[in-house]
Amino acid sequence: MSQPYGASLSSTSKWLNIFQYCRFLRILGHVMVLLVLALVGLIYTAIVPLTFGPMLLSKNVFVVLGSAIVIMVFTAVTAMCIWSYLATVALDPGRVPPDWHPFTDDQHARAELERLSYSSHYFDRRDPRRPRFCKRCQAWKPERAHHCSVTGRCVLKMDHWCIWVVNCVGLLNYKAFLLFIFYAMLGCMLGLLLLLKSMIDFFNNKLRGPSAPLIFVVSIFCFAFALSLAGFLAMHGQLIAANCTTIEMYEKDRLHPWPYNKGFRRNFEEVFGRNKLRWLLPMYGKDEKRQLLETCLGKGPAPGAGRPQAVGQWGGATALPLLSHPATPFLSNSV
Ligand SMILES: [Zn+2]
Repeated sequence: MSQPYGASLSSTSKWLNIFQYCRFLRILGHVMVLLVLALVGLIYTAIVPLTFGPMLLSKNVFVVLGSAIVIMVFTAVTAMCIWSYLATVALDPGRVPPDWHPFTDDQHARAELERLSYSSHYFDRRDPRRPRFCKRCQAWKPERAHHCSVTGRCVLKMDHWCIWVVNCVGLLNYKAFLLFIFYAMLGCMLGLLLLLKSMIDFFNNKLRGPSAPLIFVVSIFCFAFALSLAGFLAMHGQLIAANCTTIEMYEKDRLHPWPYNKGFRRNFEEVFGRNKLRWLLPMYGKDEKRQLLETCLGKGPAPGAGRPQAVGQWGGATALPLLSHPATPFLSNSV
């Protein structure tokens, strides 16, 4: 058996590895969770107890009815926002099973690792489906998986590590993350609309009392968040349309055409599932979750249709661009 890949990393370079300090972000992240929940609570307080709650005591039946509808709708959006947020924080984004490898058997995996150590061949680095080995985990990683420096492990279909959710966003919590962004944006837009009259009253000196400054501040928050979240959601909409993660989007040299792009409908279903009833819920059915994992780990067909080839299973002769250049050194140690 060869020396473990990357074992030659010197102690000096370990000290220079700035990513080890990323773990401190987790501590900061816990403060962010409280901050997010406090912001949601602040916006809800300004709209429901301070603005529309008192209207329920009105003698005008239409005002009472209208206020009740507003409160119900806004409470539902807030509840969905909090559910999606907590799901993103709590869900495991996708773990690589122990001893996983993309080859037909363990012997083949060992042989490939040996070949990798001796730099006797290389793969087309633009192809994300190539067999990849994580130096830090000392293990093979599935296609689209990346090593998260904050959580210290490889994450399936990793998108990014997000300080707002103190978690890595990946295969199994990307949907919850997008729904959190969506409901937060919807809540902020709705909040801005509902506080519009109060804002006009504020600038005309008609809104008085201790709640006036809070309503003003919340309106500014709603405006700023609605705008930034809309931009963020639009960016992720483009990524979903192309079936691309944020990390993949920033890769300098990408394969064209992108092998995971199956058309908008199937790309969308790969994130939100095939069950329309669950599209707006931050959860997957058992079958959907199993299918997602199988797609990533290469043990089954992609949602919506069969894969053209067993991408995750490398059995020697393969349809993927395996380049054998005995005289050419391995291009990089980051496979
Ligand atoms: Zn790793």
